[in-house]
Amino acid sequence: MLEKALKIIVLGSGTSHGVPMIACDCPVCLSSDPHDKRTRPSITIQYEQTTLLVDTTPELRLQCLANDVTRVHAVLYTHYHVDHVTGLDDLRRFNWLQEQPIPCYGQTATLDRLRMMFPYVFEQEEKYPSAVPRLTLHVIDEPFQIGGRTITPIPLLHGTMPVLGFRVGNFAYCTDVNEIPADSWPLLEGLDVLILDALRKRPHPTHFNLDQAVAHAKKIGAKQTYFTHIAHELGHDATNRELPDGMALAYDTQVIHSS
Ligand SMILES: [Zn+2]
Ligand SMILES: [Zn+2]
Ligand SMILES: [Zn+2]
Repeated sequence: MLEKALKIIVLGSGTSHGVPMIACDCPVCLSSDPHDKRTRPSITIQYEQTTLLVDTTPELRLQCLANDVTRVHAVLYTHYHVDHVTGLDDLRRFNWLQEQPIPCYGQTATLDRLRMMFPYVFEQEEKYPSAVPRLTLHVIDEPFQIGGRTITPIPLLHGTMPVLGFRVGNFAYCTDVNEIPADSWPLLEGLDVLILDALRKRPHPTHFNLDQAVAHAKKIGAKQTYFTHIAHELGHDATNRELPDGMALAYDTQVIHSS
């Protein structure tokens, strides 16, 4: 069954500001622990010949270099917030390497916003081949196939905003969430690995705080849960010492395996 295994790389585990934040002298921002350096939230999911990228952060190029990402066969978008999309232009390097357009999947609202934010990418005019990314946009609301595996979108709420998590096999990625709608719970059953939003200890109107994330992780019951979208209030080591067994903060460059 080895060929069915998933390899997940955490490209970024930080909140929208990144950690360290600009001009902050708190202990976590000044920490020398590499686990406390967090770029904006993103992962790759690899299986067989396929590499999926979830979101295109402002640090996409640096994340690809740091994690030896050499191919991107499809992009799954969780939502259109700036920390999840503004690295889109870096995808053109993969067009050059792969000599074909890259399919991008997301909700209608997400794809509409990409067209608005990046008009030069989607306008119909002749361009020098590597000047702009070549992307195709695909609305998703049901499970679909890429590279012989099923990708299941998981509807989530991020404040009042509908966003998507994604499940592949027994792995699920749910960032930017503070409510899991009733219909989405069955999509999270039987997980090996869950990556879940946990911003900080204080409450927030659109993200789970750590207590809420732990409570939801217990209810979901994945064998292992990692938390992401982490703000500078949470130091890696100190926070991990407080977490229950089977739960830990994710960190940039972390490699995770799942069935
Ligand atoms: Zn975000
Ligand atoms: Zn700080
Ligand atoms: Zn967001």
